Amino acid sequence: MLIWTNSCRCNNRKSVFLDRDGVINIDRPDYIKNRHELEFYPDSLKALRLATEKDINVILISNQSAINRGLISWQNFWDVHHHMVRRIAEEGGRLDAAFYCPHRPDENCSCRKPSPGLLVNASRLLKIRLHGTYMIGDRLKDLQAAYRAGCQGILLDRGCLQKEELQEISDLSAVKRYATLLEAVRELLR
Ligand SMILES: [Zn+2]
Repeated sequence: MLIWTNSCRCNNRKSVFLDRDGVINIDRPDYIKNRHELEFYPDSLKALRLATEKDINVILISNQSAINRGLISWQNFWDVHHHMVRRIAEEGGRLDAAFYCPHRPDENCSCRKPSPGLLVNASRLLKIRLHGTYMIGDRLKDLQAAYRAGCQGILLDRGCLQKEELQEISDLSAVKRYATLLEAVRELLR
């Protein structure tokens, strides 16, 4: 598990867990391998600014198996990360921490979503209560990880899910569904 944190802030604030690819930036079937392939959804940068303005901690929870598949170098991986953090900040937002799983599925680690390991570790390290905290993702495995960790799942439906996946998601308890990250963040403010 790879952990990055921004400078520490008081923990008695509301937090949200966010997936990266398909949520903040447009996902690619051949993985994000360098900063030029990191294309932001316009609504995601606005949503991150809104979360920051409303004092919500934003914690990234992301599978990045491209690392152990040997498709991205360490240098490029952290370059993509820091580029993303900088772009978010330029738009008035703030990323507070990031928890990445670098493993391939066949490594059977405990951090790759749908396992709840990234969420559980983020909760322990940052002292965030899992119960009642939202995890926003665009895939079944994000919502399964949220469910297993005891978080409240929000599906960001970017229109790329299969019917079966949508059915499985709706079988998980009380998953809310939005078309944009901005709408999902507004839900947190209710
Ligand atoms: Zn892992």
